[in-house]
Amino acid sequence: MPEDFFDYKQITEQKEGLDYNQLVECPYCHKPIPKDAINCYYCGKPVDFGKRSSWVYWTVFILIIVLLSYFIFFN
Ligand SMILES: [Zn+2]
Repeated sequence: MPEDFFDYKQITEQKEGLDYNQLVECPYCHKPIPKDAINCYYCGKPVDFGKRSSWVYWTVFILIIVLLSYFIFFN
């Protein structure tokens, strides 16, 4: 299968309704794609930024809360 023959229709449809203000770099081909994208538009590989980002966000948030509590209660 030629490289430029991956599911272009699906990729075009996926582009609509996504937030292009939140672009992230594809971990495979390093091209900018929307954060909510399911597959990379350029290389077609599945990406999962939304879930990963929120998971990292909450982990950092909880860590900050725990650290703040530690400094408040043990100083
Ligand atoms: Zn890619």
